[in-house]
Amino acid sequence: MSMISKKDALHIVLRNVKEIGSEKVKVLFSLDRVLAEDIYAQSNVPPFDNSAMDGYALLASDTKKSPSGLKVELDVIEDVPAGYVATKNLARGQAIRIMTGAPIPCGADAVIMVENTNINGRKVEILKEIRKGTNIRKTGENIGEGDLVIKKGVLIRPAEIGLLASLGKKWVQVNKMPQVAILATGDELVDPDHKLRPGKIRNSNSSILYTQILKCGGIPIDLGIACDEAKVIKEKLLSGLMADMILVSGGISVGAYDLVKDILAELGTRMKFWKVAMKPGKPLAFGLIKGKPVFGLPGNPVSSMVSFEQFVKPAIFKMSGRKHRLQPLVNAIVMEDIRINPGRVHFIRAKTIVNNGVYYTSPSGPQGSGILRSMSQANSLIVLPENLSFVEKDSNVKIQILNEVLE
Ligand code: AMP
Ligand code: MG
Repeated sequence: MSMISKKDALHIVLRNVKEIGSEKVKVLFSLDRVLAEDIYAQSNVPPFDNSAMDGYALLASDTKKSPSGLKVELDVIEDVPAGYVATKNLARGQAIRIMTGAPIPCGADAVIMVENTNINGRKVEILKEIRKGTNIRKTGENIGEGDLVIKKGVLIRPAEIGLLASLGKKWVQVNKMPQVAILATGDELVDPDHKLRPGKIRNSNSSILYTQILKCGGIPIDLGIACDEAKVIKEKLLSGLMADMILVSGGISVGAYDLVKDILAELGTRMKFWKVAMKPGKPLAFGLIKGKPVFGLPGNPVSSMVSFEQFVKPAIFKMSGRKHRLQPLVNAIVMEDIRINPGRVHFIRAKTIVNNGVYYTSPSGPQGSGILRSMSQANSLIVLPENLSFVEKDSNVKIQILNEVLE
């Protein structure tokens, strides 16, 4: 199988993964999930006409100055705080003190804000003429009964949680979160809490992948470490089939002990690609094993992370029902010269700052694909197209921001 472009590879991945169904969850647990039903309002919001201000409910016609120029004074007959209903009907010449959110008393057709009045015992002086309807929030002004309020497919954020709460919803149908199994391969690997014996290193990829999966809304399942032995890898791989997607880390390159590709083939995996024209992350396999997506990720931690970001995350997003699957590239000014070998898309770990609304970026350290430290010092990736060999200081580049907030 020949090397394919990053763009083609992403198309292939997205074409081959599907949504995995939906489930009912409590509204408070639906944050960051995708709505799997249309939400219609069963009632009006607000449920009654109410005051938008602290002030006095009255008849707008009572706020007009008489031709003789006498001051306008009304009798205050009641007091309605929010949460209560006035017991009296309002008639001409009367006012009811009202707080924001309280229901408009019967007979009133406007609310004058307290700042435009003077209170004198049980009388209130009106300092401003207002029109009918002033400061009244009408029944159903936010949402009318029967309205389609939130459409299927929307990503649920605190605003949507609030809408669901105001509509009295307790449960909501959302897309399922895909379960993603992780298998690390390599005779050299030991668990992070193990002592290192000669020749061994700690398995960092499983922990990275586990948390990358969590961050994009998947449910990680750690299958542990398989040594570089076909039988063991096969067994563990098969145990991962209970998940919705499988990630195999390492063993996918061309070394003598890189067995994963052959094992996947033996298990009947329909391989879609094996090598992608990108750096880091060239060895990257993708296929369908018994209909489930499987990624063979490069063993080098940074290659694995970058490949996850470019392919696995969009796949998890699609499986979770999310519509927007790619971090948009934005413009930045590069603060030093960068030299690269053309022929592959490059993802340069970079530290980006924002100054006066403009992004400035520079490589965050040595770019070897095993050097996790410069990934830790990066908050973004500079994305350089295939045909480039040199980027001059102060020129414009595209970056992909990795953090939610630049730090
Ligand atoms: P491989 O793709 O298996 O040839 O591995 C490439 C490099 O990544 C080797 O130096 C491995 O030791 C290293 N590597 C592979 N798997 C892991 C892992 N799970 N954690 C940390 N490093 C790894
Ligand atoms: Mg290996």
